[in-house]
Amino acid sequence: MDELRAELDKLKRQGLYRQHRVLQSPQGTLTRINGRELVSFCSNDYLGLANHPAVRQALIDAVEKYGVGSGSAHLVNGHSQLHQDCAARLAEFTGRQRALLFSTGYMANLAVTSALLGREDFIFQDKLNHASLIDAGQISRARMLRYPHNDLVKLRAQLDQSLGQKPHSRRLIMTDGVFSMDGDYAPLVELADLAASTGSWLMVDDAHGFGVLGASGAGLAQQRKLDQDRLPVLMATLGKAVGVSGAFIAGSETLIELLIQKARSYIYTTASPPALAAAVMASIDIIERQSWRREKLHELIGHFKRKAQQLDIELMPSDSAIQPILIGENQRTVEVSRWLFEQGFHLVAIRPPTVPPGSARLRVTLSAGHEVADVDRLLSCLRSVLPSSAQVRQPG
Ligand SMILES: *Cc1c(COP(=O)(O)O)cnc(C)c1O
Repeated sequence: MDELRAELDKLKRQGLYRQHRVLQSPQGTLTRINGRELVSFCSNDYLGLANHPAVRQALIDAVEKYGVGSGSAHLVNGHSQLHQDCAARLAEFTGRQRALLFSTGYMANLAVTSALLGREDFIFQDKLNHASLIDAGQISRARMLRYPHNDLVKLRAQLDQSLGQKPHSRRLIMTDGVFSMDGDYAPLVELADLAASTGSWLMVDDAHGFGVLGASGAGLAQQRKLDQDRLPVLMATLGKAVGVSGAFIAGSETLIELLIQKARSYIYTTASPPALAAAVMASIDIIERQSWRREKLHELIGHFKRKAQQLDIELMPSDSAIQPILIGENQRTVEVSRWLFEQGFHLVAIRPPTVPPGSARLRVTLSAGHEVADVDRLLSCLRSVLPSSAQVRQPG
């Protein structure tokens, strides 16, 4: 225990200590924490669906009919009609042959690498990929190469080198669609070209694009018009814009059948409660029909960026709902986050190892549930606490 306490103390000294903030209200742009009302700018509930009446009602109705627990794994006794229908709905929505539900996005990512790849194979990952993709790469035992963020030249060189070494191995390129801590997009069309020309698989984790991007909200793949042939492994989560919980992989019938046979994070875990699948279907209906939510979100993003520029607040190159403000030093980022809490804003400090050392930040996320006035108040608070670009910035 002394050793563990020393480890904890070290994290505290480095400004890396993490603590819960306990919510006493439903998810929403207005939240209650420690008895205080706050405007939240750090939820991934981008469309305001986590507490939507129709989604709530779908869940309640399904509980009445199917109860709460699923009882066992999908391949034993836990796969209900609701799971079946939800997976079919997600396949249709994403324009894929078939989809498979997972309890979490983390597990969906583990599933792909562990089912598809072995020791002889290669994985290529963007250096800024989500931790669950990195862990998925490690668990597969395949050789993992990480390329600098969105660097297609470097990726091509790595692919070519692996082709020279082991032409018959499988190759899987894995990328976030919208980078979770940076908010910028992966060059999906170019990645699909590169995958095609090198005979590699391409997988996109669209946790932050699904629901938010594309004409009907089917995500970055829809926006970039990448079908199942060009983008054979599409993963997205259901706990962010969809507002529920879980994740899915969509692709060909063959891919999904292989995952069912071989993916340990699918086989060896209890199916999620069936009522969650009903809530997901209700949410997908809203996402598809109520395009005003996406439009409002994108108007707010535009407003945030314009206003920040007017106020000389430096942003990162992002057009998405994720608008990080780079601060750099861990302790300073925590202080700014605490100060914002005092001003009535909930915005956690994002620190290493979630982001690279020296790049701690406030990850502002916008939601269709915000109003322009919320954004303006946040920005004017930020203006008073951040250095302007004219002042010398701390080197990272
Ligand atoms: C949140 C997230 C995950 C994990 O999904 P969960 O359902 O929360 O486990 C995976 N990938 C990315 C890019 C994410 O942002």
